[in-house]
Amino acid sequence: MTLKLYHEDPYTAGFEARVDHVEGEWVSLDRTAFYPGGGGQDKDHGTIDGLMVEDSRLKDGIEHKVPGHMFRVGQVVQCYVDWGRRYELMRSHTGEHMLFSALSKRSEIELVKISLTPEKRSLMIKGNIDWDLIKDALQEVNGLIFQGLEVRAEVFSKDCVDSSRTRIKLDRIHGDSVRVISIGDYDEAACTGVHVRNTMEIGFLMITKFTSAKPTGDWEIEFQVGEDAARSSASYAVEMLRASERLGSNPQDFRVAFENRESERSKAIESLKQCSKVMLGSLEPNVIKGISIYSAHFNGIDRKLLMDKATSITSSASSIAILVSEDDRSYLVIARSPDQSIDCVSVLNDVLSEFGGRGGGKAGFATGGTPTAVEGGVLISKVLKRIGLDDG
Ligand SMILES: [Zn+2]
Repeated sequence: MTLKLYHEDPYTAGFEARVDHVEGEWVSLDRTAFYPGGGGQDKDHGTIDGLMVEDSRLKDGIEHKVPGHMFRVGQVVQCYVDWGRRYELMRSHTGEHMLFSALSKRSEIELVKISLTPEKRSLMIKGNIDWDLIKDALQEVNGLIFQGLEVRAEVFSKDCVDSSRTRIKLDRIHGDSVRVISIGDYDEAACTGVHVRNTMEIGFLMITKFTSAKPTGDWEIEFQVGEDAARSSASYAVEMLRASERLGSNPQDFRVAFENRESERSKAIESLKQCSKVMLGSLEPNVIKGISIYSAHFNGIDRKLLMDKATSITSSASSIAILVSEDDRSYLVIARSPDQSIDCVSVLNDVLSEFGGRGGGKAGFATGGTPTAVEGGVLISKVLKRIGLDDG
């Protein structure tokens, strides 16, 4: 059996070991500080006698994949764990225990998955959580980090573990003993990962993402610790202050101010819609060669209203609708009554392609847009010219 130096002393970065067994590229040592992964925590990187450890696995003992090695059984080798990477994972892992514990003290939640890699530290959780709960949990966790709670790792017999006090999934424990990580009197959890000795080492913990995930009812939480967390927090705080200043509110009242602004915006959109309906209702046709041409352009009108109007216009015989909504882009609707023969899609694309735009639809009804604003009157006159119904 390999002596697990990563459990004996998680701060071992450099160590000497004896080669125990060799099988192709895989090497086992009598002792190792390379954590082989587990509990969501990524495997360690590093070198053995200067050669890269590309992978590690738990088989009979712990085996490391070292391509290109010429090791013989009994040989003494010098090993180094990529310490910067590992220490970040230890800090993140300990932070994860505290974060999950803080959340679970506030709501019935279940841990679905943990991912602790240098690129992403995340928790997948099932249960009821919201932003207020996240805020309370974060404040508690950071308070405890600053208190400098001791983190202990102890091995107990499986029968001695009180599952009402220790977070443990007994069905996942193989063997008779359980390794329990306790953080002060705050949290106890069964875990085989690698942790720091004092919460102060985490420095600071910040959530960088909280979103609902699939399947429904699951949540994904991403977090950072230490310098990364401090940097993100500073950046988010400044953005928050900037947004508050724009809204004319205090940062602590930002949410209310934002919701008020949203409600004003909805009301404004609704009244714009009502105005648009009135304008569309008063549209009069221009009769050319016996065909009633309804053409008009509007600023930022609701596109669905425009389409509905075109449909209603062209339900009467001998009619064509050419309607435009102008915004930072222009949106064109061309429709005709069934007794007319123009192909609306090709007319629309002929006109829009001049401005880098395009569209689609059916022969009797087509819609499309331009990538930038084009004056509505220009589009309408080009359509009329294309179908040979311009006044000139
Ligand atoms: Zn752990």
